[in-house]
Amino acid sequence: MFTLNCFVIKEMPAGESSKRIYVLTKEMGIISVFVRGGMKSSKYSSATQLYAYSVICAEEKRNAKGEKYYYLNSAESISMFYELRLDVYKASLAAYFTELLFYSRIEGNTDNNEVMRLTLNTFYYLNEGKKDRELLKSIFEFRLLCEIGFRPNLIGCSVCYKYEDDRMFFDPYSGDLKCESCNAEENSAADMVLDKNLLYIVRHISLTDLERLFAIRISPKYQKLLTDFTEGYVKFHYQCSFDTLAFYKSL
Ligand SMILES: [Zn+2]
Repeated sequence: MFTLNCFVIKEMPAGESSKRIYVLTKEMGIISVFVRGGMKSSKYSSATQLYAYSVICAEEKRNAKGEKYYYLNSAESISMFYELRLDVYKASLAAYFTELLFYSRIEGNTDNNEVMRLTLNTFYYLNEGKKDRELLKSIFEFRLLCEIGFRPNLIGCSVCYKYEDDRMFFDPYSGDLKCESCNAEENSAADMVLDKNLLYIVRHISLTDLERLFAIRISPKYQKLLTDFTEGYVKFHYQCSFDTLAFYKSL
């Protein structure tokens, strides 16, 4: 039996009245937990619903093949992020963020503290509704990829180490930057182009402490460029399109 703080990112029916929830945890990554009778209203139904941040008590069992299963014993909610359910923009972004998490393969016993903090902070601001939604989306998309192993090398040109240039060229495949003159020698058409401001913004999202991560403000013009950049980076790494993103963008 173990007790963990967890954030519910997906729930699905299992059998007639039970459900399976997928939760993000700091200690174990994303795990699935079976909730007996979870589709009926029970004393644990709110603490195990989508977007609940809760303390759960669960136990591990193994089937004949030795595969691990977790069963819920009890749950108590810490925060429900209730406002997410009342606004279609917030709800659709929340659905997209949890889909990104679900496909991020956050598994095992690695330390997922930063992913957990990023997620809870993002959901806090989304729920509260005081930060620009597009900015929250870009921050979550790019910083999540940074935290799960795809933090690019944005310190400077990967060839001559130049810190900045009027235009820098970013290669999502290698995660490297090149300055204008170093890039001209290779002339790669697939690279993403960043001017000084956009480079400053993506460096901030990639490298700044979580305490100051959300303090950045950007103009509508740069938000549009940032959206193209972070969506492009997501598309490159996940190699799929997300229905939840398409729905959000159709609103
Ligand atoms: Zn260079």
